[in-house]
Amino acid sequence: MSWEALIFQTVLSFLSEDQVMNSSPLIEKLIESLRCLPGVGIKSAQRMTLHLLERDRVSAKVLSDALAQAAEQVGNCDRCRILTEEGTCGICSNPRRDRSLICIVESPADVYAIEHTGSYRGLYFVLMGHLSPIDGIGPAQLGLEALQARVTEEDIDEVIIACNPTVEGDATAYYISEQLRETKAVLSRIAHGVPVGGELEYVDGGTLTHAFAGRRAIEVKEND
Ligand SMILES: [Zn+2]
Repeated sequence: MSWEALIFQTVLSFLSEDQVMNSSPLIEKLIESLRCLPGVGIKSAQRMTLHLLERDRVSAKVLSDALAQAAEQVGNCDRCRILTEEGTCGICSNPRRDRSLICIVESPADVYAIEHTGSYRGLYFVLMGHLSPIDGIGPAQLGLEALQARVTEEDIDEVIIACNPTVEGDATAYYISEQLRETKAVLSRIAHGVPVGGELEYVDGGTLTHAFAGRRAIEVKEND
């Protein structure tokens, strides 16, 4: 048998093994559902499914209840747009937060990462993405009008732009700094420590703390 035929046969044998494992439509549905998670392929989804059904039905029930409740009830904070089941999230309604400071991030995961450092006591604004014309994401989708109104109305002293250091993040940060240049707020952007091309979510706490400490003011060019 040629090596190509051998590989082909081996692949086929794996496929039929999958089909045997998916003999129950409910199990098949669960495996397919788990595959919507980032980084979860067919094998991982099968492993999770079998673990929950064979060894941990209690956790399976807790997981399914928590998921159903969260999917049903979690929305966006009416102030900062982070995910919350309250109208206004716990950070925005906390009287101990510094209300003169707003940090702009791309996703709720960035807020969790920054909160984990314990070094930032201001408020947030979550863009829920970055400017991306090809995906139809413009200023309206990022809530930039609401951001501008907030910075103006709430007497914000400093806006820290913590967009990801990617091409899209840079473009978004530049657009926001242009939009906010007429307000009295000092604009800054987190700088060194965060790797270029990286995402805040994956940066460790110490690096993020340094990045915040080393933020610098953004220079906006005057229009001719
Ligand atoms: Zn909030």
